[in-house]
Amino acid sequence: MFKRLRIAAELSAGRKLSFAACLFALAALCAVPGSAADIKDPLLAYGARIVGDDARTRIVIDFDREPRFSVHYIANPERIVVDLPATAFGFPAKDLAARGLFKDIRYGAMEEGSARIVLTAARPVQLAMAEVQTDENGNSHRLVLDAEMIDKQKFAELVKTQSWTDEADAAQTTSAIPQPENSAPGDFVIAVDAGHGGIDTGAIGVDTKTAEKQVTLAFAKALADRLNREPGIKAFLTRDDDEFLSLSQRVLIARQNHAGLFISLHADTLKQKDIRGSTVYTISDKASDKLAADLAERENLSDQIAGKETVAEPPEVADILLDLTRRETQAFSISLAENVLASFKDQVGTINNPHRHAGFRVLQAPDVPSILLELGFLSNVDDEKLLLDDNWRRKMADLLTDAVKRYRAGLMANGG
Ligand SMILES: [Zn+2]
Repeated sequence: MFKRLRIAAELSAGRKLSFAACLFALAALCAVPGSAADIKDPLLAYGARIVGDDARTRIVIDFDREPRFSVHYIANPERIVVDLPATAFGFPAKDLAARGLFKDIRYGAMEEGSARIVLTAARPVQLAMAEVQTDENGNSHRLVLDAEMIDKQKFAELVKTQSWTDEADAAQTTSAIPQPENSAPGDFVIAVDAGHGGIDTGAIGVDTKTAEKQVTLAFAKALADRLNREPGIKAFLTRDDDEFLSLSQRVLIARQNHAGLFISLHADTLKQKDIRGSTVYTISDKASDKLAADLAERENLSDQIAGKETVAEPPEVADILLDLTRRETQAFSISLAENVLASFKDQVGTINNPHRHAGFRVLQAPDVPSILLELGFLSNVDDEKLLLDDNWRRKMADLLTDAVKRYRAGLMANGG
């Protein structure tokens, strides 16, 4: 493509070319996005918007006509390049200021007849969707780019397998996400999420000063190992070291790995140091009580601790089908919570009314049944002892595995 464009540029610059070369160049001009007509009458990009967070970011650019475009990936640093025909960018720069997954966004004319948008990412990304949406009257043409984070390895594959010559293929970047490693089709996949991590230490133990992020990681590892001993169950960790993940990154990791369940593990503190025992939370718009509301508010602060911007509404929030999915998922989440508490009965101490609900952002996956398990409270000396005890951890992991197995048996009995 660049070779062709260079010929076009030379031609228009009035360089002397042989007749044959001119014919070839003219043919080439017609074959690339930047045709002779485009050069004189560039596309107008008259509006732009960018929304989302550090897990998913959507860019929308309004054009006066349908733009042909191609998408490519470049490594070091991770960048997405969107090539367009000649385009006049007429929107205010602040409307496309870098945010979310992107730390720098540049756009402008390339060689004559072409323009380029370069999105420099803060971490490996892919475009889960890249398409032009035209309204019924054919008046507005929106280029919609939905970026989501992926791991380094997947990005390297994108860079390696992409084609720079076939533009039609390059634009179709939507890729099915493969099965998670080591899992077979039909496996029941469970995301085990160790709360907090990195700069976000979480609560601190009242006696030993152990950080919640360490307690949750140690427990998450024990639970994933225990679950993985069950045939047909494949558990994986959202983080396996002391790494900060934003709340929506945790949700996205679960969804990208096709998790059938998401279990977020915590061990917070309360002002009332005598309160101890486990609690299981499911999501709801309205908190069940003040304790749940306060806890969700504190947990949702996690992103701010790391200086991440929080986004009030995901872009698809008004989608009716998604709303139905959400409600169905909600029922499954509640079923899991009930199974967990049935396993805990007479085995593990719980607080009063141990199934509570509140607006935890980490439980917001519309299609993955999710619970947040407060294992116990680091503000209570006795709970803290248990939380650091290997035997207790093993017992809890056994009970949770039983709960997951019963939940799964219930799904299969209902044909799920
Ligand atoms: Zn926590």
